[in-house]
Amino acid sequence: MESSLNGAELVTVVGAGLAGSEAAWQLAERGIAVRLFDMKPERRSPAHSSGDFAELVCSNSLRANTLGNAVGLLKEEMRRLGSLVIRVADETAVPAGKALAVDRVRFSRGITEAIEAHPNIEIHRERVVRIPEARPVILATGPLTDPELASELGNALGEEYLYFYDAISPTLYADSIDEDIVFRASRYDDGVEGEGDYLNVPLSREEYANFVEALLDAETVPLHEFEAALYFEGCLPIEEMARRGRETLAFGPLKPVGLVNPRTGKRPHAVVQLRQEDRSGTLWNLVGCQTKLRVGEQKRIFRMLPGLDGAVFARFGSIHRNTYVNAPVQLDERLQLRNRPGVYLAGQIAGVEGYVESAALGYLTGVSVARESLGLSQEVPPPETAHGALLRHLQNANAKYFQPMNVNYGLFPPLEHDAARVPAKPGSPRGRRQKLPKREKNQKLAERALESLTAYRERVCDPGFAPAAGGVSGPPPFPSGEGVA
Ligand SMILES: Cc1cc2nc3c(=O)[nH]c(=O)nc-3n(C[C@H](O)[C@H](O)[C@H](O)COP(=O)(O)OP(=O)(O)OC[C@H]3O[C@@H](n4cnc5c(N)ncnc54)[C@H](O)[C@@H]3O)c2cc1C
Repeated sequence: MESSLNGAELVTVVGAGLAGSEAAWQLAERGIAVRLFDMKPERRSPAHSSGDFAELVCSNSLRANTLGNAVGLLKEEMRRLGSLVIRVADETAVPAGKALAVDRVRFSRGITEAIEAHPNIEIHRERVVRIPEARPVILATGPLTDPELASELGNALGEEYLYFYDAISPTLYADSIDEDIVFRASRYDDGVEGEGDYLNVPLSREEYANFVEALLDAETVPLHEFEAALYFEGCLPIEEMARRGRETLAFGPLKPVGLVNPRTGKRPHAVVQLRQEDRSGTLWNLVGCQTKLRVGEQKRIFRMLPGLDGAVFARFGSIHRNTYVNAPVQLDERLQLRNRPGVYLAGQIAGVEGYVESAALGYLTGVSVARESLGLSQEVPPPETAHGALLRHLQNANAKYFQPMNVNYGLFPPLEHDAARVPAKPGSPRGRRQKLPKREKNQKLAERALESLTAYRERVCDPGFAPAAGGVSGPPPFPSGEGVA
């Protein structure tokens, strides 16, 4: 496959979903010739039904649209950075309260028309079964990557680094866990109080029985037909294990073996363990609690656990087919495969979860490969931004337990001490100042992010460039070599 088109640098993008469409658009807007492949409509993944690009396979919601929520901030950053996906989403929005939901048909049609109209994009509606030899190439084939290409990628990375389903257990914010009830310990650490890598929720026989009862009665998200074979020993949902016998969990993921509650000096009947998810200790994962319970049920049932009655969820549990790589091991900070220079991953396959997160990675990879092709310096988004926080997670997450993640404020560097506290009342002694309430803290995190985004935007978006007004009729014509870089 050649690497130039009409003398212009050529980049190959495989997959015209949320990530691939955004990457192709950002490259094309920067004067790079793009060869974009998608196997639809000839061949579709089990979740896709339309021939259009950027198809929303399930919900038509792109989630919260306010800065109080990290995904709202991510969308605002994408708006300011000239994202195609968010521009078209805004243009095809339908009433949805504080969320951004879209008319999914008009949304995908809008993206497809923009891509088809772009003079720098050549579309190939064909299935790609091998990693293209041409470089650079961006693979954005999604969670349901066509099996042949998926296994080729598995061979290239080593099977153990490419996953075909995700069994996600809920993740909680540390400051919503009551440390007066949970205790810190690792199994068999001889109960040295306060040490140990895990937070442990001690359950009495009765508390355990109530928890199991609730799991058995709870409502779950139905499996998609193509996920039928998903439940196998390696990833049984916790409610499925409970169905196997009332004590199954107490002898399985909730076994109390090697754990003594220092407050009682006794071994609980069962223990729910929480493992640190990020280096700063802001996020804690409920070990072994992968689940298909509906979100509302997860809130109700996991908050039944002692010490978690005020639990705030950074991520909910889920189990679904999902092709993704172990990003901390396989990807560098530009989402390039460490062992295959010139091959980039974007979207869900790179280890994020969600429509918006996938498109955001498409943006970052498109800009990064364009700058490389134009011989410009590389720019990574500041860590305080939602884009930067996502990249940081892909780089710094615990590789041993890597799981795809939605964007959430737990991934952001914490606010400075003072900024995270309520202002001292005039004349009040320099006493302990209360932590900011969550809503105000998130507002401050968002303001800090948008502030630091400005400089990044000036570097990656030419001030003269403004997304074409009036929607998807394509960008302004692009003078060669100038414009956004
Ligand atoms: C069943 C299911 C439901 C989901 N529901 C939601 C939800 O409600 N909300 C949410 O935020 N996220 C949801 N997700 C997660 C995720 O956000 C979406 O899957 C999102 O579409 C991922 O974007 P992407 O660009 O990575 O991949 P996709 O949007 O899936 O795009 C990949 C594209 O690559 C093409 N392709 C694949 N293999 C090949 C090949 N070998 N050759 C050529 N083309 C190929 C496909 O045709 C497709 O167009 C869901 C995922 C699944 C699997």
